[in-house]
Amino acid sequence: MPKAKIYFVGAGPGEPALITLRGAQILRQADCVIYDGLVSEALLDGCPADCEKICVRKRTGEHPFTQEQIHQLLIQKTAQCRTVVRLKGGDPNLFGRLAEEIQLCIRLGADFEVVPGVTAATAAAACAGLFLTDRQSSSQVIFVTGQETPDKAETALDWDLLARFRGTIAFYMAMSNLAQIVQILLEKGKSPQTPAAVIQNAAGPNQRIAYASLETIASECSRQGIEAPAIVLIGPTAVYRQEYDWFSRRPLFGKTILITRDEEGNRRLAGCLRQQGAEVLCFASISVHPLLNTDAAASALSRLREMDWVVFTSPRGVRFTFEGLASLGKDGRAFGNAKIACIGPETARRLAEVGLRADFVPTRFIGEALAEELAAREPLEHKKILLLRSAIAPDDLPCCLRQRGACVEDVPIYTVKPASPAPEQIQPLRRRLTQRQIDWILFASSSAAEAFFQTFPKETVLQSGTRLASIGPATTRRLRQLGFSPAVEAPVHTADGLLEAILRYYD
Ligand code: SAH
Repeated sequence: MPKAKIYFVGAGPGEPALITLRGAQILRQADCVIYDGLVSEALLDGCPADCEKICVRKRTGEHPFTQEQIHQLLIQKTAQCRTVVRLKGGDPNLFGRLAEEIQLCIRLGADFEVVPGVTAATAAAACAGLFLTDRQSSSQVIFVTGQETPDKAETALDWDLLARFRGTIAFYMAMSNLAQIVQILLEKGKSPQTPAAVIQNAAGPNQRIAYASLETIASECSRQGIEAPAIVLIGPTAVYRQEYDWFSRRPLFGKTILITRDEEGNRRLAGCLRQQGAEVLCFASISVHPLLNTDAAASALSRLREMDWVVFTSPRGVRFTFEGLASLGKDGRAFGNAKIACIGPETARRLAEVGLRADFVPTRFIGEALAEELAAREPLEHKKILLLRSAIAPDDLPCCLRQRGACVEDVPIYTVKPASPAPEQIQPLRRRLTQRQIDWILFASSSAAEAFFQTFPKETVLQSGTRLASIGPATTRRLRQLGFSPAVEAPVHTADGLLEAILRYYD
């Protein structure tokens, strides 16, 4: 067994995109990840499928691991695995008990590496539109734990210094002691008018902020129900200025969007929606399965070069075709001089990733348009056209091509099935629907729409006040048949188009 290495990785403040490149790279190789409660679980999607994931400090868990139990776990996993990741919220070096865990590594003789992360205080300042330092008013910044209260027999904090401090104080873990912290700072002479800001869930879609003077900040937090995890900033720069508030100005901030593609599709779409500020809930209503071991697929893949045109109608079709070719020991050269058509830019992009350029992409990304526009470009009589697509794809494309005289082979290279979600995946979503907390449900295919409504009763959705968004005419038709009328349909029938449709809705 090769020697284990333990990586202490900063996960950032909870927004998955804020991990470092090095952190993400290590997660892709992890055999085991031991992570804290404030870490975004979306980061774990980046781990290999067989990676063991252990949460040691659940946010609401009744039995968080003690530090001693975490040490035992590290000892055990170091004996069993090669790459052990200790994933900690924010930066592992700040209030993360890093020293103790590294001392353990040294005792074990294990190799280790520390990967820094975006700490909560800098994320909070960035996303609140505040400054930790400012040439005019704050030339120093201090990170302080709020757990060390002055009633401790021997506090490690220098309260006199904090009261005198001319700069920004960032308190971590301070919410349960906030009133007491404020009181002692005032008693030690800090001005009651010093600005203060408390940022809850910094950088996340549910970020909330209270602004007040030092004197009133604790009661303001109670009034607004601001709770942990939160950063308390105290100092001259902790003042709200609307023009600096880029975060809550993002178009989808405050909106909750439920997406219903397969797991991989959801992951990609979730990233785009999050960038626009939305809270994204994922439900994988369908799962995708390659059909590479069929005679039809094997025969089609061995005759690509005999075709006039090979048509892809989804990025997945491209992916599975190339996986199929690779398993036959072949690559893109198998296409010979056959021309390649892609239904839209996402599919063409996927093709470009494997080094091939699409010869044709229609201007509208639906089957009918592909056939029409291809026929306008060249006569299709007796042309051999191979479609490599989903087993449940609609008939419009092959029908339209055949009407124009083409010899069409329609070969399923993958299929889509309704997923079988566990009750714990369904219940929280159903609860949020019933509580009218979901603004949008997005449908990127008719099969996803169908599968979704096999799990979620029509009535629940109708009564939830949520709006539906459809990727294109076929999906809209299916939604109508199911009894819904989508509030928007994507102008361009791609995932980007779906996002665009929602952004336009709020314009
Ligand atoms: N190592 C972490 C801090 C761990 S201590 C870091 O560098 O950020 C845990 C405290 O961090 C919480 O009590 C809270 O004060 C703060 N914190 C963590 N994530 C936060 C977030 N998203 N928003 C606001 N505060 C957060």
